[in-house]
Amino acid sequence: MDKLSTMHRVLMGPGPSDVDARVLEALSRPTIGHLDPAFLDILSKIRELLQDTFRTGNELTLAISGTGSAGMETCVANLIEPGDAMVVCVNGVFGQRMADVAERYGADVTTVEAEWGRVFSPEQIAKALHDKSAKVVGIVHAETSTGAGQPLEDISRIVHENGALLLVDAVTSLGGMNVDVDGWKIDACYSGTQKCLSCPPGLAPVTFSPAATAAMDQRKTKVQSWYLDLSMIRQYWGSERLYHHTAPINMNYALLEALQIVHEEGLEARWERHLRHHRMLKAGLAAIGIEYVAQPGYELPMLNAVAVPSGIDEAAVRKRLLEEYRIEIGGGLGKFKGKAWRIGLMGSSSTHENVLLFLSALEDCLADQGFGFDKGASTAAAR
Ligand SMILES: *Cc1c(COP(=O)(O)O)cnc(C)c1O
Repeated sequence: MDKLSTMHRVLMGPGPSDVDARVLEALSRPTIGHLDPAFLDILSKIRELLQDTFRTGNELTLAISGTGSAGMETCVANLIEPGDAMVVCVNGVFGQRMADVAERYGADVTTVEAEWGRVFSPEQIAKALHDKSAKVVGIVHAETSTGAGQPLEDISRIVHENGALLLVDAVTSLGGMNVDVDGWKIDACYSGTQKCLSCPPGLAPVTFSPAATAAMDQRKTKVQSWYLDLSMIRQYWGSERLYHHTAPINMNYALLEALQIVHEEGLEARWERHLRHHRMLKAGLAAIGIEYVAQPGYELPMLNAVAVPSGIDEAAVRKRLLEEYRIEIGGGLGKFKGKAWRIGLMGSSSTHENVLLFLSALEDCLADQGFGFDKGASTAAAR
């Protein structure tokens, strides 16, 4: 416990991100009952703020008990009945995970693939739906394993022209860039608390359009997961307030506080802040010859995936960053293991001083390994 209480990190990895003191304070408030009117009032406020964050009027908007992956599983489990056809777009780890989850729930899965780091063209999705119709098309908005951001508007139009529902993973994007659920006609969308919302991990915001809700109402079979069955969870979040499972009370306090912070800043100002610090970091890295792995023009503002320069021991750099500077960054995942660093500028971690601190520290680590560059060039370019 002693060690825990003195531990401090600058969280610049793929999540969790730094948590504001106000959110930690909210987490420590006295636990009350999950049917206490005061707590039910908190759930109503969370719903309203989640609707604002997702930019939707969807009635069925709530926070699932569990991390982002529980949000993914909730969407799939409730929309898919065994044998239903689903198209899943795979260009990184999280698309792969969605395909795996869909198979486990009995979907007849077709994957559409793009090279890691690249995004999908609307034509690719049109072709897949022309070859085989589907009930649901699943796609990742911000692929945290590659740092690529997927445009969704044109794809959404094609999905709907083909009579399918659009399911979007917004775990990393929500709160850090525009996620316009109603404007882009997304039918089901899930996120997580520990990325750009800067709350500890533990809840998964989800939202469902009237069309997605109707599809759930028309199910002929029960949802295979009892815990994630929205037909029951809705009765707790809805006016019935019927017990299903005990809500993680304190995590909901934390989420409410985190969402309040998001809306005090304002969504657009927050997206702009993420973009500003991303550009700073990118300029700094370019000045010492470090390049992004995502398709040019589609780099995510909150997750900067860059190629490790040849000859550099990438794990040694991360170890020194953590031990000496207390900075956490991520290594590569899946195909990018050992080949990329993932530098997060998510939520509260997206600051001017974090960018400068990271670049200075990285220069130190690279100089130690004999990497050739002009000392101080990265921070000078970032400023
Ligand atoms: C982090 C992440 C997830 C999984 O969330 P967990 O909270 O780790 O369960 C899913 N999709 C994307 C794009 C992510 O970045």
